[in-house]
Amino acid sequence: MGHLGKERPVEEAKFIWMDGGLVPWGEARVHVLSHALHYGTAVFEGTRAFETPDGPVVFRLDDHLGRLRRSARMIGLKLPYTEEELRAATLETVAANGQASCYIRHLAHRGYGEMGISARGCPTALSIASWSWGPLLGAGVRLMTSSWRRNDHTVVPTAAKATGPYLNSVLAKHEALDAGYDEAVLLNAAGHVSECTGANIFVVRDGLLLTPPSNAGALDGITQDTVERLAADLGLRTLRQELLRSDLYAADEIFLCGTGAGVVHVSSIDRRELSGEGGEGPGPVTARLADAYDAAVHGRDERHRDWLTPVSG
Ligand code: PMP
Repeated sequence: MGHLGKERPVEEAKFIWMDGGLVPWGEARVHVLSHALHYGTAVFEGTRAFETPDGPVVFRLDDHLGRLRRSARMIGLKLPYTEEELRAATLETVAANGQASCYIRHLAHRGYGEMGISARGCPTALSIASWSWGPLLGAGVRLMTSSWRRNDHTVVPTAAKATGPYLNSVLAKHEALDAGYDEAVLLNAAGHVSECTGANIFVVRDGLLLTPPSNAGALDGITQDTVERLAADLGLRTLRQELLRSDLYAADEIFLCGTGAGVVHVSSIDRRELSGEGGEGPGPVTARLADAYDAAVHGRDERHRDWLTPVSG
């Protein structure tokens, strides 16, 4: 139940793709004076490959690579590879590691060159790692409202998946774990719900699905978009709208979604229990969506085959 991410060492694979080719896992190193290490000048993606009856597939790869490029543009970084090259490199990495399913981390960072705030003299390095990583949150998440507010869009581009701004998530996550919760939900400067530290949030009310818009400070989640499309298949209405903290308390169901977490139900918010059917388990709407997501990623939903990129051939 709840948080699963406590002190789990990375499960090493064989290779990491770095700046144009595969290198042995242990040799994928960077210099300590790399700009990104000091100033957070990197963008990244978290993608997953899943097992299907026809072999491993990467889920929504082009959407993840598209977001990587947009994130890079938002922070003024030029990716040194085309989308086609990155797509081939991703598949090459997963295939070389022989993984039936895995998590994939793309990282484009300003490397070693000059020191100082300006990153202009630092080359952009690009790496792709894949390793076996189970769900980052166990079902039945005990959620707390963080005392940290979400990064504000007037301070950093909140829609960019950039490393520097993730300090905001790290602080909120540590606060939640220290207080005995599994995960934190962050409100934005206006007090509206934005998202969790590494997942988007949905509220179910009278059968309607509500999720904050990206201008509330949330990442444009690819799983969030997936859930919206699967909800439409099921005839459920979804709405992106501003949510108040009290909307969380009044929810029939709450669930979180993200590549790392999957679709997981929240069992309590600020220690207020959310009563799913039968107490502990997910509510009926969350359960249907979690099943639909599972079917889609594992190739059992014919309608969404275009979300899947086979790792080989
Ligand atoms: N919000 C944050 C802060 C995240 O780190 C993630 C994970 N990438 C998400 C939302 C969910 O995004 P996605 O569904 O694209 O993985």
